[in-house]
Parts: sequence; C-alpha cells; structure tokens
Amino acid sequence: MATKEEPVKVIVRCRPMSESEHSRGCQAVLSIDEGGSCLITKQDSDREERKQFTFDRAYSGHTTTEHIYCDIVCPIVKSVTEGYNGTIFAYGQTASGKTFTMQGVSEPTTQLGIIPRAVKDIFKYVSINKSQQWVVHCSCFEIYNEEIRDLLVKSLKEKLDIGSFPNKGFYVKGLSKHPVNTVVQCEGLMNKGLKRRSTGATDMNSDSSRSHTVFAISIETLDQRTNGHIRAGKLNLVDLAGSERQSKTGAVGVRFKETIKINLSLHCLGRVISILAEGKNQLIPYRDSKLTKLLQDSLGGNARTLMAACVSPADYNYDETLSTLRFARSAKNIKNKPIINEDPKDALLREFQREIQELRARLAETGDKNRIPDADLQALLCQKENEKQAAYFEAEKAAMQMEYEEKMAKMMRELEEARRKQAKLEEDVRRMKGCPILIIENEVAPDDEIIRELRIVLIGKTGSGKSATGNTLIGSKIFDSRASGISITKETHYATAGFKNRSILIVDTPGMFDTLESNEERKQEIMKCVALTSPGLHAIVFVTQIGTFTEEEQKTVECYKEYFGENIVHYMIIVFTRKDNLVHDGITIEDHLRRSSPVLQQLVRDCQDRYIVVNNRNDEEKETFRTNLIDLIDKTVAHNGGGCYTNAMYKAAELAMKVKEDELMDHVQMEQQAELDAMEKARSELLMREREEIERKAEEQRLKYEKEKAEIMLETDEMLRELRQREEMKEKAWKAEREKLLTKAQEEADKEKQKELELREKLDKEAADRHLQLEQELRTLKQNEESVRRQRERDIKAAQMANSERTEVERKKIEELRQRKEEEMRLLKEKFELEMNRLEQDDAQLMITLQTIYEEEYNQHVRKVAREARLRARREARTKRSFLQKVIDKIGEVLFRSPMYVPTVSKDTDLV
Ligand code: ADP
Ligand code: MG
Repeated sequence: MATKEEPVKVIVRCRPMSESEHSRGCQAVLSIDEGGSCLITKQDSDREERKQFTFDRAYSGHTTTEHIYCDIVCPIVKSVTEGYNGTIFAYGQTASGKTFTMQGVSEPTTQLGIIPRAVKDIFKYVSINKSQQWVVHCSCFEIYNEEIRDLLVKSLKEKLDIGSFPNKGFYVKGLSKHPVNTVVQCEGLMNKGLKRRSTGATDMNSDSSRSHTVFAISIETLDQRTNGHIRAGKLNLVDLAGSERQSKTGAVGVRFKETIKINLSLHCLGRVISILAEGKNQLIPYRDSKLTKLLQDSLGGNARTLMAACVSPADYNYDETLSTLRFARSAKNIKNKPIINEDPKDALLREFQREIQELRARLAETGDKNRIPDADLQALLCQKENEKQAAYFEAEKAAMQMEYEEKMAKMMRELEEARRKQAKLEEDVRRMKGCPILIIENEVAPDDEIIRELRIVLIGKTGSGKSATGNTLIGSKIFDSRASGISITKETHYATAGFKNRSILIVDTPGMFDTLESNEERKQEIMKCVALTSPGLHAIVFVTQIGTFTEEEQKTVECYKEYFGENIVHYMIIVFTRKDNLVHDGITIEDHLRRSSPVLQQLVRDCQDRYIVVNNRNDEEKETFRTNLIDLIDKTVAHNGGGCYTNAMYKAAELAMKVKEDELMDHVQMEQQAELDAMEKARSELLMREREEIERKAEEQRLKYEKEKAEIMLETDEMLRELRQREEMKEKAWKAEREKLLTKAQEEADKEKQKELELREKLDKEAADRHLQLEQELRTLKQNEESVRRQRERDIKAAQMANSERTEVERKKIEELRQRKEEEMRLLKEKFELEMNRLEQDDAQLMITLQTIYEEEYNQHVRKVAREARLRARREARTKRSFLQKVIDKIGEVLFRSPMYVPTVSKDTDLV
C-alpha cells in the first residue's frame, strides 16, 4: 500500500511589539488574519508595497500558546502516542518569540510553552490508557557551533557524533535516554536540559538562544488489540537558534562566531527546504549540516511536522520578517510520508519483554526442579524494585531540588522586594519625621547633587497667597491654590523640590485664625511645623497681600512668635503678594510701606527689611521671584551665622522625633523580623509540606510497589500452582502409560506364553507324530526284519536247499542291503539333525523375542517369566533331545541288534 503524503503544517506567530521597538518609535507592518493570511506592508515615501502570504494558521500578538497548542499542535502530539513520528520546530529571527513559543513562561499559565504542554498531554494519554504497556523516555541535546552536546549528562564538554542506520537515517551516537514514568520526572529533565542550553545576550535579546535545541520524547506502546505489535513514536521539539544580522545584534567575538555558525546551518536548512518544496528529483543536501541531518525524517520523511514561524510586527524588522514568511511559504510545500512505526528492532519494550520472558523461564526452571523458588524470586524482585525505585527517587529528587531552588529564588526575590520596600519606608519615615499628615511631594534631585537643604515655613492668613508662593518656590503646582482667594488649605502640608543643587522643603501652613478654632488645634499645627522643619527652619516666610495687612495677620505673627520664640523674627521674610496693586497705584513698595500701619512697619523693621514683592499671577515674574527669594533666604541664613533657627522646642521635638523614629524603626524592624519569621515559617512549612509530599509520594510509590509485588507474587504462586498441577498431571499420565505398557508387556508375555504353549504343543505333536512315524517305520522295519528273517529262513532253507554255491550271491545281496540300510540310517540321522537344528533355531528365535521383550520393558516380572519360559523351553528341548536320542539309540539298537547284523551265518559275526 502506498504511503499517504501529508504536507508540512506551517503556522505564523507574530509577537506583540516589544518595548525597545516601541521606544524606537516603530510602526506595525504586519496584519494578521487568524484564518491564516498575513499581510506585510512597506511604506516608502512615495509608494506602498504590500505582500500577502497564506499559511495553515496565523496568530497575532494577543493569541496565547494555550490556544495555539489546542488549535493545531495537540493532534500531532496525540498521533505520536499512536506510533507516528512528530516534529514541532520554531523558526524565526532572534527575539521573535521562538523560545517563548516552545518553552514559554509559567505565568500566566496560558503562555506555558509547547514543550511542557506536550509532556503533560503525553502522560495524560498514558494514564488514561492503562490497559496498554508504555515505555516513555526522553533526551535533550543542542547543536552549538556545529557541535552536538547532550544536555542531560554531567559533562557538557563531551561532543557527540552523528551515526546513520542504512534505512532509518541519522541519529546522535551515544545520546543518553532517560526512562520517565511521571510528568514531574519528565519536566525535571526538560527544565534541566533547557536550562543548560547555550544562551547569551545580544542587542536584540538579552537571553538569546545560541544553539539549536532538541527535546525528544520517545514513546513505545504495546496494545493487545494490535496483536502484540509494538508501536514506537518519537516527538522532536526543536527550538532553533535565531537567524540574525550581526549589525543588528551587535554580535562580536564569540557571539559573532556563533552567529556565523547559526546562519550557516540555517542556510543549509533553507536550501533543503527549498529543494524539497520544488519537488524535483534532485539530491537533497541533508548531509551539509548537522541540523539538516537530524531533521531529515521531519522534512520530507517519516514524520508529521509543524513549523512555527515566529515574527516581529515592527517595521524595524521588515526585512527579517519578510524573509521568515518566504521561508515558511516554501516549507508549506514539503510533503511528508508519515507511517505508524511498528515493531522497530531497537524497541526497548521488546528488550523488557525479553527480560520478562527470561524471568518467566527462570521461574519455570525453578518450578521444574521442584525447588522453592521464592527466595530467588524475592531477591530478583527486590533488586528490580530497588532499581526502579532508585531511578524514580533520583528523578523525583532532581525535580524536587529544582522546584526547591526555584521556590528559594522566588523567595529571595520576595525578600529583596521586602527589603527594598522597607528601605523606602525608612526613607519615608526619615522624610516625614513623625508628621501624621499625608504629604504631597514632587521629585527631589538625586542625592549626590544636593548640596544643602533649605527648610522654609510659609505663614499668613487664608488667601494671602501662601500656597501660590509655595508653588512658585517649588516650581510646580503642588499646593492647592485657588485664584478665587478661598483656599481650602485646612491643615499643614509639605513638599520638597530640587532647585539648583538645593533640596528645598516647604511647609505650607493653614490660616491660623480663620480655619482653626481652638488654641489646641493651632498649637498642634504649629508643632507640625516644628516637627517638619526639625532640626530647625532656615526661613519663616510671612505672606501678605499688599494693602490688606490685618489684625488677624498680626495675631498670626504673634502666635508664631509665641510658640517659636521671639528670635524667630531674625529668620522672618515678608512676601508681599499682589504686586499688581502697586503697579496699579503707580507706587513703590517703600511708598506703600511708608503709608502702611505702624504694626506692619514695625514688623518690617523687626525683619530688618527682608521683604520681597511678587505677582503670583504673572508667570514671567515667577522665576525671578523664586531666585530672588532663595537669595534672600540665603542672605538671611548667612546673616544668622549660616545655621538654621533652632531652640529648646526644636531640640525637644528632635528628641521626641528621635524617640518616635526609634520606635518606628523598632516597629519596622519588628515588622521586618515578623515578616522574615513569617517567610521563614512559610519556607519551613513549604519544606515540611514538600517533605511530606515526598514522603507521601514515596509511601504511595511504596504501596504501589507492594501491591505490584503482591500481584507478582500472586501471579508467581498461580504459575507455580499451575506448574505443579501440570507436573502432577504429567506424572499421572506417565503412570498410566507405564501401567498400559506393563499390561501390554503382560499381554505380550501371555501371548508369547500362548505361542510357546502352541509351539510346545506343536513340537509335542510333531514329536508324537515323529514318534508314531518312527514307530511305524520301526514297525515297518520290524516287518521288513521279519520278512527278511523269514526270507532269510527261506533263503537259509533255500540255501540249505540250494547248497552253498548261492551263498556268495546271497552274502553280496545282504551286503548291499546292509549298505542300503546304512544309507537310510545316515539319511535318517541327517534329517534328525536338521530337525534338531530347526528346533534349536526356533529356540534361539524364541530367546531373542523374549530378550527383546525384557529389554524393552525393563520389567523384572516379564524377565522372570521369560527366564522361566526359556528354562522350561530348554528343559523341554533337552527332554526332547534326550527323548530323540533315546529314540535314535533305540533305532540304532534295533538296527544293530537286527538279525541282519547278526547273521546266523557264522562268518557274519564280525559285522556286529
Ligand atoms: P527568540 O527565542 O526567538 O530569540 P524569545 O522567545 O526569547 O525570542 O522572545 C524575545 C522576547 O519577546 C522575550 O522577552 C519574550 O518574553 C517576548 N515575547 C516573545 N513572544 C511573545 C508573545 N507572543 N507574547 C509576549 N511576549 C513575547
Ligand atoms: Mg530563543
């Protein structure tokens, strides 16, 4: 049957625009339609170039790996469990999202990569189909600078070669294969391998993969429904190194060398793909690079292949994206010929089966010898179990170790974060110095640029322009200031700002006699100023509008004097706002002051003429005012001996704050300690839980093994019982057979006996017949003798009568007769001897027959019977012989005694 061709599946995944692309001001050039089409547009100054590509699927930046996996990857993984080969590889320029697609990230879980998803899926399938036997093992290697390195062995230094099977293509010689039974084991190996791949930072990707990495999972299965055939599928998950331009990645030195090698092998891959895509009958240059050698089956061979082409959406990468899309388009034309791999020669499962059979044989052997096999069996089982358990624990341990390390790293990160937060908190505390009010603050210049701090308090009635002055000083609109003049400032705020290498702290106070009612509240607000400007203020700025100095403001100043001490005026500066009023009246501030109330004039004098005029609404004036005011403050500070205003209250406040700060620090430290304790507790709990989990798993495993062992023991017992039954049955059959043989031998013996009896009868009869015949002959002889005697008498008479001349003739006649008789006697003897020989031969034949029976049966009884029969036969033969001898003797006797031999003629006496 011809193998069905299947085209290589190709998908395109476009990642979202990266931050660096955003900051470069890149524009998107790719538009994606999930149906599979991609449109890439190039916008030149005068024309627009559009190119359209169509693939099996195309995914935009917001598609998750989970969606892609379920949509198109899952069926390939599933078919690997059925015995097909599968390959999934990611191609694209550096930083296009290959590793993101293959390995992915653990958070969010929807972006977990294809490799970990495939691992989970395979084991899910294996656990569902428990009736089948499964052997899963995995390997992981990388091709770095055209050298192959096993990522799952201790030493990464060892370089592996590529070997080839005559009909199966290329493979990595000496690559380690790791049997895995659980997802955790497999993930452990996956994490270990992928973590060890060669990576390095380039301008395009801080963690750029510098090698082609292959994570391979082999699955062998034996299903009774497939008539005991083993099926073996292999899944290759390949994360290629990115194609890149040296100019963009900025690769130099080692990175540059890597770039050349990466591009070379990708170039070979491109050639292989384009020749395959053309479909011409041409030699495919698989041998040109290690990558193409190892992907031979996946490209135009026995595998189901999916290529994920990863691209960037940005115009900055237009050329690379276009080249990737072209590459992907040619890959789409490749036709593969996937088949189910049945009964491969190197199947591990077969190896295991052989081992089982060997064990069974050993078991049967021990059963046969009727020895107690349990000890042997136990030892064997124990050994197997230990090996299995050791391998399991080793993998489990590695996975746990890795998990533990990851968790530790996470916790360390959290600790770092907690420390950072705490440092920030301390900083905040330092800044707040006990102020309970929420503070608004703007950016302060970096520490190393700050030369000196200026602490300023703004006082005045509501609507005098304090917040506006504060904002002007800060350089931004931080304090709430309303043009309407109705300020909502009801409590003290502060802000800090950097200005010309200075750090300025401004405290904006509320109007003391319009918002705050009680003395206590007033005092509290003023104490906040003490706290905030501790260890002392550099200037207290009294803000008042031109022409509106009221009693209320006078009281405000008095109030501050009262709480801060009289000396505060040495640090006081007056800011007159609404300069526009002066302009409007066409007078100077001095003119105005001359016309002002004596109280204000006194205050100005107290302040030693430190005043300044401003129009807060005029933005242009603000910067000058700011500079001038800070100059004035500096002058004030200089005038006061370079320090800040401080007094007992400040010292008390400083002390109180120190106490509070210490308390806070203690509190923070306690909190930190508590947090550390909690983390430690959580860590130990985690460890405990992990240990418990390990123990639980170990226990589960132990129970499982116990169960399996018990089952095997049961099976063994069953087998032994069966064996014994079979043995018993065999013995019974053997006994029956023996019985049968004995009966048969007995029957044979009986038959022989019968035969012997018959023979004896026959012999007896023959002997009797012979006897009769001999008697007859004897009688005849006697008659002859009688007739001879009579004749002789007659002859004698005749002789007597015919005288002696006839005597000679007579004697001759007698001689002839005697000779004839002798001849007859000899013949008779010969006949007798012949008869005797025949009898002896019969006897011997009988003996042979009996001997055969004895030998065949090994039966004492039969032998005895036969021996008796033989003895009897011999005895009888002997009797017969003696009888015959007697007969012969008798005959002889008769013959010799006959008158022929005793001639009455005297001469004949000699003859006797
Ligand atoms: P490559 O392996 O192709 O060199 P990476 O997979 O390392 O590239 O991806 C480069 C960066 O882009 C990584 O920071 C990754 O998190 C991000 N990235 C890639 N694809 C996506 C995506 N689909 N969604 C979100 N971020 C992505
Ligand atoms: Mg990568």
